Amino acid sequence: MPRLTRTFTDRFSHSPEGVWSAPGRVNLIGEHTDYNGGLALPIALPHRTRCAASARDDDTLRIHSLQEDSLVEVRIDDVAAGHPGGWAAYVAGVLWSLREAGYAVRGLDVVVDGQVPLGAGLSSSAALECSVAAAASDLFGLGLLDTAEGREVLAAACQRAENDIAGAPTGGMDQAAAMHCTPAHALRLDCLDGSTRQVPFDLSAHDLALLVTDTRASHALADGQYGARRDACEKAAEILGVEFLREVDMASLEDSLARLPDDVLRRRTRHVVTEIARVDAVVEALRDGDLAEVGRLFVASHESLRDDYEVSCTELDLVVDTAMAHGALGARMTGGGFGGSAMALVPVAEVERVSSAIAEAFADANLTAPVSFSVTAAGPAHRD
Ligand code: ADP
Ligand code: MG
Repeated sequence: MPRLTRTFTDRFSHSPEGVWSAPGRVNLIGEHTDYNGGLALPIALPHRTRCAASARDDDTLRIHSLQEDSLVEVRIDDVAAGHPGGWAAYVAGVLWSLREAGYAVRGLDVVVDGQVPLGAGLSSSAALECSVAAAASDLFGLGLLDTAEGREVLAAACQRAENDIAGAPTGGMDQAAAMHCTPAHALRLDCLDGSTRQVPFDLSAHDLALLVTDTRASHALADGQYGARRDACEKAAEILGVEFLREVDMASLEDSLARLPDDVLRRRTRHVVTEIARVDAVVEALRDGDLAEVGRLFVASHESLRDDYEVSCTELDLVVDTAMAHGALGARMTGGGFGGSAMALVPVAEVERVSSAIAEAFADANLTAPVSFSVTAAGPAHRD
């Protein structure tokens, strides 16, 4: 019996009714655009979080994770901002928000096992939420996994859990990726209307690989800085008289920038507007099979995040610079920044050389050893 179901049975003295799973994600391009009503282009990772679960007749959630020691018990009715605290909020919050959305959910016994590295910018939080949401949908007969609209409902419930209960003010990209990504495709996600489009993404046809590096760095300023970036975008949008910076188009960017009162707001806005344009530029380059152009757009994105949005850090820059110096077609930080992960578009034959060079560069700089791995575009949340 696999460790997950064995642990479930040991903990709760009965077998789970099933196992559900959801993927982490890596965003190819379109960073810090989701809360600006912009575009993003994530792929689902092969790394998944699994959730063994069974329904209860009462209102109680009993939650355990193989990545944590504790067993958390909470009634859905008692779930609120900050309660339960810590990691269990991501699980309890999903049941709470499904109930808030009008779905008849009851308690669950849950054990989760995550393969997505925690806090590495690869969205272990959404993988956790979405695996639990998938379980709840099936166990309570909600049928929400069966249609695209139902999956949107689940993604929205998971985002609300993360925002309102776990207290992380994130946009909706991660949950949308976990619910809608399909194998061998990237997901063009329009965060203004929530619409999605599948974009074929098969690097092996070009003898290329996507090398992801978890820098193992997580700088304490991340949370406050994320909020500050959101605030700056809202302020710039207000001054420009638009609801979201998405509505500022590239053609009139210079005019719009001239209307902003300070350099910081101008640079934040320039990042968002150019980054949104780069998403469709990557979609077009992928369609045309022009992977060199995809690589150039990755680098442009990184420079914009580093210089205009100021969310990169030493470790992320080091991955990008080292990969580019060793034959990558392009590289960029991915995720919110201030640590977490970067990725590089690398010829398959060079993957070992590039990942060794990154490891050596980190050792030379006395940084914690990073973890690099190649990924392919995998599938969404489902029953295993
Ligand atoms: P990321 O989503 O990039 O990995 P976050 O800070 O958004 O980073 O989410 C990480 C948090 O999610 C962890 O600190 C933990 O609270 C929770 N989490 C994710 N996966 C698990 C898991 N398998 N077990 C327990 N907690 C988890
Ligand atoms: Mg997260």
